[in-house]
Amino acid sequence: MADKSLFRPALARMMAYAPGEQPPPGKYIKLNTNENPYPPPPAVVDAIRVAAGGPLNRYPDPMATAFRRAAAERLNLPGPDWVLAGNGSDEILTLLVRGFVGEGQKLRLPYPSYVLYRTLADIQGAAWEQVAFDDDWALPETFGKSDQDLRLVLLPNPNSPSGTVVSPDRVSQLADSLDCPLIVDEAYADFAEDNCLDLVQHNQRIMVTRTLSKSYGLAGIRFGFLVAQPEVIAELAKIKDSYNCDGLSIAAATAAMGCGDWLRKVQEKMNATRGRLAERLSDLGFDVVPSHANFVWCQHPNGKHQQLYEFLKKNQILVRYMEFPDWGDGLRISVGTDEQIDACLMIIERYLA
Ligand SMILES: *Cc1c(COP(=O)(O)O)cnc(C)c1O
Repeated sequence: MADKSLFRPALARMMAYAPGEQPPPGKYIKLNTNENPYPPPPAVVDAIRVAAGGPLNRYPDPMATAFRRAAAERLNLPGPDWVLAGNGSDEILTLLVRGFVGEGQKLRLPYPSYVLYRTLADIQGAAWEQVAFDDDWALPETFGKSDQDLRLVLLPNPNSPSGTVVSPDRVSQLADSLDCPLIVDEAYADFAEDNCLDLVQHNQRIMVTRTLSKSYGLAGIRFGFLVAQPEVIAELAKIKDSYNCDGLSIAAATAAMGCGDWLRKVQEKMNATRGRLAERLSDLGFDVVPSHANFVWCQHPNGKHQQLYEFLKKNQILVRYMEFPDWGDGLRISVGTDEQIDACLMIIERYLA
């Protein structure tokens, strides 16, 4: 047991973030952490191979210039200086909290949503404030209320665990009523119809984070990025590690930006599977929220979510059981291949029979 007095008080007080289980490969049909069930584009794997034959004795490009160029082109941004590359979008979120929220200051997040935001605030010795979604997963006016100590607002859009979206118009409205930056975490935006990238160009306080972990099937390489106005990017670059992204991941992510056709096909496929999953769950009596992400949130009137999670696990299917104090619990099921989803549904049917 470590002597807690050795550490900063904020650290001694906080609880560790618990990511979804990562069991040894092959043991389960894995539908618990919203990874892509399909392998990444072949061009990405080729790019990693080529990079592995390159000068590994040299440090990588500190600003991942090739990636920034490719991302700016792919997303129709005014230029590469609107992009900051990170070791997963989780690192980008860390930089944002570190850059904007001081000790004793406050960040805001909707509830229920991505639990990591609270951990990042805890590390910083900052406070967090949760604003509950309305019953129909809209954001109440209080989410946009400005206040002296409030330094940062974080909004996953599409949200996790619900998969619901807040429209760009509403995001813009919220940003206008706040005095601090509003981060739109678009980890799942590739599965949705809309996104907030355009807003970034009109409001310096709106910033968008993206990841290659979900839609591009690259959770294993750790690459995410921020889209913000160039002056904001330059300030935040001051606090990142010099070499925050390694050479292999930069090569992979750069290649991924050229795989628009692959992405569209996988999106179509996964959105179709998502529709089937949602419909069948609904037929089985679940309350299912219409999802714009690569997962489905469901609750059964029998309330036996934890038992169903255990039953699925016993049958080699791993989904995410989530419990939110004062709110409720349910299951978040990632969209897998059609075969994986059929297997999952079969076990669920067996449980309910
Ligand atoms: C998965 C996820 C991330 C993290 O993405 P990485 O790039 O893998 O770090 C960020 N935000 C949300 C809401 C996520 O679900």
